[in-house]
Amino acid sequence: MDDPNTSETHSTTGGFLSRIKGDIITPEHPDYRQSLHRWARNAERNAAFVIFVKDEADVSTAILFAKENKLPIAIRGGGHSPIGASSVEGGVVIDLSRYLNKVRIDPAKRLAYVGGGAVWEEVGKTTIVHGLEQTRKKILIYSLAILWPPYSQRDTVFSGTVIFHGKQLESLVAVTKEWNSNGSPKEAMMFVLTCDPTGVPIILCQSFFNGSEKEVREKFKKLYDVGPVADMTKEVPYETPNPLQNPYVRPGNGAYWKGVAHKGPDLQPMVNAHQKATEISQGGKTYVQVVYEWFHLFKINSVPAGATAYRRIPDPNCSVIIGWPGEAHSDEKVDETRTFAHRIADCIAGGESNLKDVKSQGYANYDPEGVLGDKNEVKDKAQVAFGDNYPALQRVKKKYDPDNICNRWFAITPA
Ligand SMILES: Cc1cc2nc3c(=O)[nH]c(=O)nc-3n(C[C@H](O)[C@H](O)[C@H](O)COP(=O)(O)OP(=O)(O)OC[C@H]3O[C@@H](n4cnc5c(N)ncnc54)[C@H](O)[C@@H]3O)c2cc1C
Repeated sequence: MDDPNTSETHSTTGGFLSRIKGDIITPEHPDYRQSLHRWARNAERNAAFVIFVKDEADVSTAILFAKENKLPIAIRGGGHSPIGASSVEGGVVIDLSRYLNKVRIDPAKRLAYVGGGAVWEEVGKTTIVHGLEQTRKKILIYSLAILWPPYSQRDTVFSGTVIFHGKQLESLVAVTKEWNSNGSPKEAMMFVLTCDPTGVPIILCQSFFNGSEKEVREKFKKLYDVGPVADMTKEVPYETPNPLQNPYVRPGNGAYWKGVAHKGPDLQPMVNAHQKATEISQGGKTYVQVVYEWFHLFKINSVPAGATAYRRIPDPNCSVIIGWPGEAHSDEKVDETRTFAHRIADCIAGGESNLKDVKSQGYANYDPEGVLGDKNEVKDKAQVAFGDNYPALQRVKKKYDPDNICNRWFAITPA
């Protein structure tokens, strides 16, 4: 491959680049470093060309240009992938975030048209301007239904963070077990097992309830009775909970994330995972969160597996989130963190042999490793992520992308 640090070695035959209406950024450009920035520092790669496309014709031209020059391609939507799936070393980034980041609402048809580079904040703001009552339902079906199923929606919901001391985990698990067996899709909770800045183990309970404060205080009475250190839950506008985690997960730092399926509230694996996370956080020097999700998945799992690409995960997810300051980033840091994440994942899954079982694979979109946790991205991850749908997807891939030009993330091998 040509030297990625200069654009001059690449052919522009066919005048491909001159046909681009958007912006083309190469390593000589003053905005080059800025154009490579991603949410996670370790997701950044030195592209040869970053093309901020304006429309479909620009996308098509950019692909033809990359093909002509045998350059790898990455697409950048919001740039949040922690594994660098939207970046590519020495290749062409087709970046949607500058011009294709708008959201348009058609209130009459109750449809939202969301640009590939739009972020949820933009979706929320635009739908509010156009009147949520008109559009909320469709928006939910296309997006947030993943988290909050589309019931008749109130303008406000009850949400926020309640902080408990690490010693209260046993009581919290007992309460959560009871709630989990009686809960409805109107409510959800996340437990974040972490440490405060001095290294003291704490539990952040982030709850969501599609109802009034009065209802929730009754419903979650036993949880509040455990005696939180701080309670920041209240009735808030519907769009507020989605960015609830933003203050804790700021851009520009290093990040390693791993998804593990879990069976529900179970004290011992949680105690082990919390202890391991506390140990690894080294008195607050490394940022470690073990995020247990308690969502009722029966609505999602009622959709037949063949109706969407990804396999169904019958069990809820637990995310291992490890962060480090951007300035401390290095490849060695990623290697070290991967090992830490696997140690915590072992605790969540109840041992290494369980973790290697495909059934323990949680969200596919976090770590690049395969089921065995090898350092390099392995081919079986695509197979694991798509499950029984994989052969059908391979046929589609062969038809529309036989040369495997779109090969980032968990690339499907054409059949
Ligand atoms: C703070 C935070 C919270 C998160 N919470 C959740 C969560 O609750 N649930 C969850 O499932 N995930 C969550 N994620 C992960 C996130 O959903 C994924 O990283 C997702 O890929 C982000 O979308 P993006 O457009 O920013 O992706 P990018 O990083 O821009 O791209 C990711 C991949 O998608 C491809 N791609 C992007 N846009 C297009 C397009 N238009 N056409 C073709 N390919 C495209 C890219 O090439 C790349 O391979 C979270 C991430 C962060 C940083």
